[in-house]
Amino acid sequence: MNYEVAISNKSFRKTFLVKSEFVVEKGERVLVRLNNKKEIGYVLDRKKGNFVGEIISKVDGKSFLRGWLVDAVVEASSFFGAPVGKLFDLCFPKGLENYFVERVYSNNPLYDFNGINLNEFVEKYGEKKLKELLKNDAVYIKKDFNLKAPNPRKELYVYLKASLSEISEKKLTKKQKKVVDYLLVNDIVSYTELREFLGINKDVLLQLKRKDILIIDKKIPQKVGRVLLSDNQKKVVEDILNASSSKVLLYGVTGSGKTEIYLSVIEQTNYKALYLVPEVSLIEQTVRRIYARLPEKKVGIYHSYLTKSQKIDVWMRAVKGDIDILVGTRSAFFVPFDMDMIVVDEEHDESYYQDGEVIYDVNFLIERFPGLVIFGSATPRLDHYMEAKNGNMKLCILKERYGTKLPNVEIINMKEEKKVIPYVSEVVVESVKKELESGKSVILFVRRKGYSLIMCQNCGHILKCPNCDVSLTYHKAEGKLKCHICGFEASRYMVCPNCGSVLFYEKGLGTERIELEFQKLFPGRNIVRVDTEVVRDFKKFQVILKKLYSGEIDVLVGTKMITKGLDVPTVNLIGVIDVDAIQNIPDYNSSLNLFRLLVQVVGRAGRKERGRAFVQTYEKDSEVISYALKQDVEGYYEYELKKRKDLRYPPFQNIIQVIVFSKDKNLGYENTKKIVEELRKHNLEILGPTEFFIPKIKNNFLYHFIVKTNEVKRVNTLILEIISKFPTKIKLRVNPPSLYTI
Ligand SMILES: [Zn+2]
Ligand SMILES: [Zn+2]
Ligand SMILES: [Zn+2]
Repeated sequence: MNYEVAISNKSFRKTFLVKSEFVVEKGERVLVRLNNKKEIGYVLDRKKGNFVGEIISKVDGKSFLRGWLVDAVVEASSFFGAPVGKLFDLCFPKGLENYFVERVYSNNPLYDFNGINLNEFVEKYGEKKLKELLKNDAVYIKKDFNLKAPNPRKELYVYLKASLSEISEKKLTKKQKKVVDYLLVNDIVSYTELREFLGINKDVLLQLKRKDILIIDKKIPQKVGRVLLSDNQKKVVEDILNASSSKVLLYGVTGSGKTEIYLSVIEQTNYKALYLVPEVSLIEQTVRRIYARLPEKKVGIYHSYLTKSQKIDVWMRAVKGDIDILVGTRSAFFVPFDMDMIVVDEEHDESYYQDGEVIYDVNFLIERFPGLVIFGSATPRLDHYMEAKNGNMKLCILKERYGTKLPNVEIINMKEEKKVIPYVSEVVVESVKKELESGKSVILFVRRKGYSLIMCQNCGHILKCPNCDVSLTYHKAEGKLKCHICGFEASRYMVCPNCGSVLFYEKGLGTERIELEFQKLFPGRNIVRVDTEVVRDFKKFQVILKKLYSGEIDVLVGTKMITKGLDVPTVNLIGVIDVDAIQNIPDYNSSLNLFRLLVQVVGRAGRKERGRAFVQTYEKDSEVISYALKQDVEGYYEYELKKRKDLRYPPFQNIIQVIVFSKDKNLGYENTKKIVEELRKHNLEILGPTEFFIPKIKNNFLYHFIVKTNEVKRVNTLILEIISKFPTKIKLRVNPPSLYTI
């Protein structure tokens, strides 16, 4: 028998035909001898032809991967030009091997090895004997992963028992009070969370327990929150259950209650579900809602911030069928979990597109799942929107916001408006003032992190990074200029490399500048900034969110981070400070990205009562902005689709972007030109080559070109073949969410 196998941990797309003396399953991991080296391989299929290696033994003794997934991974590899073995590796967390126990069983009634540990066997009878018995098929080795499962510390859950009036009668220490306040806002909280966020130890909890104030529990209490669905929501649930297509696009405005739809479908079908969210910070609130609604379900959590043993624990529970709902980010898709349905919440989010060493769009794989998939979004993917319009996907629409109306949005023409501080209009400042006076919180969106850029007063030169061709960002609190691409740092006090002047302006704005300006405008108010520099890990972000929920924060200044599916009932006013730069990026996705950003940001306002939003712009006549302000998704999508059809952009054609890196400026360009010339011989539609948006990064010169094609797989192969003749490093990506990120 010959099998086609993919090789683990290799950077190529190639697969190999190998022979085998025994039958192996599709998706099974095997030990392969290839070019006299032993490698771990994944079995793809039986195949005829000339073999180049052989399967030595099984690794797991069975396949953990379902057939459709194996096929989907292979397809994704050729569509995205991604290394196939590395894609398969995503299905097996690192360190898994250490948790397997190998056991010896007899095939032959003459021997009686009923699952004796392999190591013991070798000690007792020797390696030679084992080989002999294996050769004669008298025994076989099986992996057992049940017995040596990792044992992460069991979690404890804490919640209040006493009522508010009972608590107020008791005398509490400062620390005890801290815990009580926290529980009042957060309901049920894990001990880990209390320890990490409040810095308290278990003694404090035990004291409170003795005072009969709280309960410490090993399980989350079954507080069933019966949710009443609106008629519209009920109809959508019914439509999904009766849909003839297994792929559903749930297009619902922000705050329309998509989560309730997902959970109702899970409840009514009793399906095992994979539930994907775009951000780690959204997992917790999702799990809480599941527990409140479906307390009997066994929930697993999977994301990249888990420790190795936590990952393996969830992986094993999934494999053993001990999970009903697996909630996680992109990486959770690859856990071999035998789900009946998949929910992709905020399906448009770019985090579903992995742009690292291995590049793929997890939506591509999910589309190949044979069961029910619900793709949910207020601003769907264009390709899914088109599929739904064409009837290839079931389209379900939720136009009403659950409980409230969409916020009232005003556009502020920055060309005419009076400005109180640089880049902020009087209208916005006055509105913030009123909002704070009435005890509410405000969110301000700023595109860039840091304080500002620095421009020479004499010649207008903007200070740039010496390693990358990008502007340096000034960080006022630290007094430093930083490069956001390579991390280069310099003192604020330098000489203009262009003219030698030492006088500079602060030009443009970032989160830090808005934070400082508002602190000056509203002294005594708690003004907090979130961007990836201040909030590096998601736990910190959660602390900030909790403060925002509880009204402790007055003004939150943030980048895109703040736009992702968060539900903040205390915020009624949102100000979008700067967006103009986004739509001027020469990228086929930039206006779509701006549209989404505006719809999502504005959608954060007024989840409880009708909110307001301001958008400051110098381009008030921009079509994208006006569609976004009306929250007219369908109108905008039709407009955008028409434009893309004319220009032959996705979803009508696929684009392949190739970025070429070179240490030498001229050589890099010459090589890229030659590559493109070769490709042009094959009658392809190619844009470029040109300098990349950021022409120089970490002392590499970057060039790129774009191929528009409907034969991605063939063209990928062609490109990779041609490029292999050049000594250049490249990055190839298919339909990336943005062309200019790196
Ligand atoms: Zn920075
Ligand atoms: Zn100068
Ligand atoms: Zn740099």
